[in-house]
Amino acid sequence: MDFFNIKQAELLLVDDQPLQLKILHDILGSCYHTYMAKSGIEAIRFCEHKLPDLILMDIDMPDMNGLEAGKILKEDELTCEIPVIFISANNNPEDENLCWQVGGVDFITKPFNHLTLLNRVRAHLTLKFQSDILRKNMYQDGLTGLSNRQYMSQELDKVVKRSQRENASLSIAFLDVDFFKLYNDHYGHLQGDECLRKVAWLLRLTFDRPSDIVARYGGEEFVIILPKTEEKDAIRLLNKAMKALNEENLEHEKSLISDRITMSIGLYSTIPYQSDNPDELLARADKRLYKAKQAGRNQIQSED
Ligand code: GH3
Ligand code: MG
Ligand code: MG
Repeated sequence: MDFFNIKQAELLLVDDQPLQLKILHDILGSCYHTYMAKSGIEAIRFCEHKLPDLILMDIDMPDMNGLEAGKILKEDELTCEIPVIFISANNNPEDENLCWQVGGVDFITKPFNHLTLLNRVRAHLTLKFQSDILRKNMYQDGLTGLSNRQYMSQELDKVVKRSQRENASLSIAFLDVDFFKLYNDHYGHLQGDECLRKVAWLLRLTFDRPSDIVARYGGEEFVIILPKTEEKDAIRLLNKAMKALNEENLEHEKSLISDRITMSIGLYSTIPYQSDNPDELLARADKRLYKAKQAGRNQIQSED
């Protein structure tokens, strides 16, 4: 039984010949979502906007052949996990060797048996989805179900690179629950854990875009990464999260500033320069969190 829905898989079919694309689509289109590209360059452009679960790539194409395109996709950390099945018109052993060298997962020669193609695609999608699940478990925080610090750190590297490439805004928020030691001391560790789960849940509800990364950094600290988000929009969303937390009315009798759980937030929004490194950007948000604490807690600080 599938514990993931393989029918949700998105396939990119790449071939310079419309007839070949149609054949592939006719075989696979009824089982999966399919997209089409007519050249290696088009395939790479497509992946800049959308990451397919699997690519079927013709080898012989003008402009950029499939092997070159496959190599470029393998070298980019955003696309290197996508399995690529190469399709060749001739049974050329040299091409077959090159296909493995550039990191292809399979090699199919035309004309192919439709059922064989379907089953190979299915097998590779199953492997891909299983490894996605393993990766997810490795990168999930056990207490809250959010991403963990390791995942956040890896994703931040990618997001910063992408923002630099696209000249896009990026917002990074560092959040810390106020007077949480006093909370634990008063209500006990188990209730403390429950409180962290609720905070995490509220954050996930507020930051619900697929590209938003909501992570537990450690203890009672969270990091939120918002790609393609300017400061004013980040502030609006963070205010929404603070309001939701306030409305949740989580009692904190021992807080020195309120009768309920509050949090402090440091926000750093920027269009990153080539010279900016991810740790530095995170440290800038952390510095502003410190400022928010100094200024009385239960607030967002977006300036130095
Ligand atoms: P501040 O407002 O300055 O942030 O004060 P604080 O008390 O929140 O900060 P501090 O860093 O002194 O204490 C953090 C506390 O968070 C310490 C620990 O009791 C609690 N904590 C950290 N991780 C966990 C956890 O996984 N579960 C529970 N229940 N508590 C945790
Ligand atoms: Mg802390
Ligand atoms: Mg704290």
